[in-house]
Amino acid sequence: MGGKKYRETHREELRIKARQYYREHVEQCKAYQKDYNKKNQSKINKRALEYYYKHREELRPKKNAQKRVRRVPLKEKCELCGATEKLERHHPDYNKPLEVITVCATCNKKLPYIPKVKAKLKKVCENPDCRREFASIRSDARFCSRKCEWKVWSKKRSERQIRTIQ
Ligand SMILES: [Zn+2]
Ligand SMILES: [Zn+2]
Repeated sequence: MGGKKYRETHREELRIKARQYYREHVEQCKAYQKDYNKKNQSKINKRALEYYYKHREELRPKKNAQKRVRRVPLKEKCELCGATEKLERHHPDYNKPLEVITVCATCNKKLPYIPKVKAKLKKVCENPDCRREFASIRSDARFCSRKCEWKVWSKKRSERQIRTIQ
Protein backbone atom coordinates (compact mmCIF):
# COMPACT_ATOMS: atom_id res chain seq x y z
CA MET A 1 0.00 0.00 0.00
CA GLY A 2 2.72 2.46 0.96
CA GLY A 3 0.36 4.32 3.28
CA LYS A 4 2.66 4.00 6.24
CA LYS A 5 5.65 5.12 4.24
CA TYR A 6 3.76 8.12 2.93
CA ARG A 7 2.79 9.06 6.45
CA GLU A 8 6.41 8.79 7.57
CA THR A 9 7.88 10.91 4.79
CA HIS A 10 5.13 13.54 4.96
CA ARG A 11 4.84 13.66 8.72
CA GLU A 12 5.33 17.41 9.12
CA GLU A 13 3.00 18.24 6.25
CA LEU A 14 0.29 15.98 7.60
CA ARG A 15 0.64 17.42 11.06
CA ILE A 16 0.18 20.95 9.75
CA LYS A 17 -2.86 19.85 7.76
CA ALA A 18 -4.36 18.11 10.76
CA ARG A 19 -3.78 21.15 12.94
CA GLN A 20 -5.41 23.39 10.34
CA TYR A 21 -8.37 21.04 10.02
CA TYR A 22 -8.71 21.02 13.77
CA ARG A 23 -8.69 24.80 13.94
CA GLU A 24 -11.42 25.02 11.33
CA HIS A 25 -13.57 22.32 12.90
CA VAL A 26 -12.86 22.71 16.60
CA GLU A 27 -16.35 21.94 17.84
CA GLN A 28 -16.83 18.90 15.62
CA CYS A 29 -13.40 17.57 16.52
CA LYS A 30 -13.97 18.00 20.22
CA ALA A 31 -17.35 16.30 20.02
CA TYR A 32 -15.89 13.46 18.02
CA GLN A 33 -12.99 13.04 20.43
CA LYS A 34 -15.33 13.03 23.40
CA ASP A 35 -17.59 10.48 21.78
CA TYR A 36 -14.62 8.33 20.79
CA ASN A 37 -13.15 8.48 24.30
CA LYS A 38 -16.46 7.52 25.83
CA LYS A 39 -16.89 4.52 23.56
CA ASN A 40 -13.31 3.34 23.89
CA GLN A 41 -12.49 4.22 27.46
CA SER A 42 -11.35 0.77 28.49
CA LYS A 43 -9.28 0.37 25.35
CA ILE A 44 -7.60 3.73 25.92
CA ASN A 45 -6.86 2.99 29.55
CA LYS A 46 -5.42 -0.36 28.63
CA ARG A 47 -3.25 1.14 25.95
CA ALA A 48 -1.98 3.87 28.26
CA LEU A 49 -1.16 1.34 30.94
CA GLU A 50 0.58 -0.92 28.49
CA TYR A 51 2.59 2.00 27.21
CA TYR A 52 3.49 3.06 30.71
CA TYR A 53 4.65 -0.37 31.80
CA LYS A 54 6.60 -0.93 28.65
CA HIS A 55 8.39 2.44 28.88
CA ARG A 56 8.36 3.16 32.58
CA GLU A 57 12.12 2.96 32.93
CA GLU A 58 12.60 5.74 30.39
CA LEU A 59 9.53 7.70 31.40
CA ARG A 60 10.24 8.00 35.08
CA PRO A 61 13.56 9.86 34.93
CA LYS A 62 12.20 12.03 32.15
CA LYS A 63 9.16 13.03 34.15
CA ASN A 64 11.17 13.76 37.26
CA ALA A 65 13.76 15.63 35.28
CA GLN A 66 11.15 17.83 33.67
CA LYS A 67 9.86 18.80 37.09
CA ARG A 68 13.21 19.40 38.73
CA VAL A 69 14.92 21.09 35.84
CA ARG A 70 12.70 24.16 36.10
CA ARG A 71 14.48 25.02 39.31
CA VAL A 72 17.85 25.26 37.62
CA PRO A 73 18.52 28.92 36.81
CA LEU A 74 19.29 29.91 33.25
CA LYS A 75 22.55 31.59 32.34
CA GLU A 76 22.29 34.98 30.72
CA LYS A 77 23.73 33.86 27.40
CA CYS A 78 23.32 30.98 24.99
CA GLU A 79 26.30 28.75 25.69
CA LEU A 80 26.74 28.00 22.01
CA CYS A 81 26.22 31.26 20.11
CA GLY A 82 26.06 33.91 22.83
CA ALA A 83 22.54 35.08 22.04
CA THR A 84 20.72 36.67 24.95
CA GLU A 85 17.11 36.18 23.87
CA LYS A 86 14.71 33.23 23.87
CA LEU A 87 16.88 31.20 26.18
CA GLU A 88 15.92 27.66 27.02
CA ARG A 89 17.32 24.83 29.06
CA HIS A 90 18.72 21.96 27.14
CA HIS A 91 18.84 18.66 28.81
CA PRO A 92 21.40 16.32 27.38
CA ASP A 93 20.69 13.45 29.76
CA TYR A 94 17.47 12.70 31.59
CA ASN A 95 19.29 10.43 33.99
CA LYS A 96 21.25 13.43 35.26
CA PRO A 97 18.33 15.78 35.73
CA LEU A 98 20.25 18.76 36.97
CA GLU A 99 22.85 18.87 34.26
CA VAL A 100 21.50 21.44 31.87
CA ILE A 101 22.99 23.88 29.45
CA THR A 102 21.52 27.22 28.46
CA VAL A 103 20.88 27.56 24.75
CA CYS A 104 18.80 29.88 22.64
CA ALA A 105 15.74 28.52 20.85
CA THR A 106 17.53 28.57 17.50
CA CYS A 107 20.51 26.59 18.76
CA ASN A 108 18.27 24.20 20.63
CA LYS A 109 16.55 23.27 17.39
CA LYS A 110 19.73 22.61 15.48
CA LEU A 111 21.69 21.30 18.42
CA PRO A 112 22.34 17.84 17.04
CA TYR A 113 23.77 19.34 13.85
CA ILE A 114 26.29 21.79 15.33
CA PRO A 115 29.76 20.27 14.82
CA LYS A 116 31.01 21.22 18.29
CA VAL A 117 28.01 19.62 19.90
CA LYS A 118 28.02 16.79 17.44
CA ALA A 119 31.53 15.80 18.49
CA LYS A 120 30.39 15.66 22.09
CA LEU A 121 27.36 13.65 21.17
CA LYS A 122 29.21 11.18 19.03
CA LYS A 123 28.35 7.58 19.78
CA VAL A 124 28.93 4.18 18.28
CA CYS A 125 26.02 1.92 17.48
CA GLU A 126 25.95 -1.07 19.81
CA ASN A 127 24.64 -3.38 17.15
CA PRO A 128 27.70 -5.62 16.54
CA ASP A 129 26.81 -5.89 12.85
CA CYS A 130 26.62 -2.12 12.43
CA ARG A 131 29.07 -0.23 14.70
CA ARG A 132 28.31 2.98 12.87
CA GLU A 133 29.06 6.37 14.39
CA PHE A 134 26.06 8.56 15.03
CA ALA A 135 25.09 11.61 17.04
CA SER A 136 22.35 11.82 19.58
CA ILE A 137 21.39 14.35 22.22
CA ARG A 138 20.40 11.50 24.47
CA SER A 139 23.42 10.30 26.39
CA ASP A 140 21.79 6.91 26.83
CA ALA A 141 21.30 6.41 23.10
CA ARG A 142 22.84 3.10 22.13
CA PHE A 143 21.79 2.49 18.57
CA CYS A 144 22.07 4.48 15.36
CA SER A 145 18.55 3.60 14.33
CA ARG A 146 15.37 1.87 15.33
CA LYS A 147 16.31 -0.92 12.98
CA CYS A 148 19.54 -1.66 14.87
CA GLU A 149 17.79 -1.44 18.20
CA TRP A 150 15.15 -3.83 17.02
CA LYS A 151 17.73 -6.26 15.62
CA VAL A 152 19.63 -6.48 18.90
CA TRP A 153 16.45 -6.64 20.90
CA SER A 154 14.93 -9.44 18.83
CA LYS A 155 18.19 -11.37 18.98
CA LYS A 156 18.20 -11.10 22.76
CA ARG A 157 14.61 -12.20 22.89
CA SER A 158 15.20 -15.28 20.80
CA GLU A 159 18.21 -16.16 22.97
CA ARG A 160 16.01 -15.87 26.02
CA GLN A 161 13.41 -18.08 24.44
CA ILE A 162 16.01 -20.73 23.66
CA ARG A 163 17.22 -20.57 27.25
CA THR A 164 13.74 -21.06 28.69
CA ILE A 165 13.14 -24.03 26.40
CA GLN A 166 16.35 -25.76 27.48
ZN1 LIG B 1 22.32 30.06 20.48
ZN1 LIG C 1 23.40 0.77 13.85
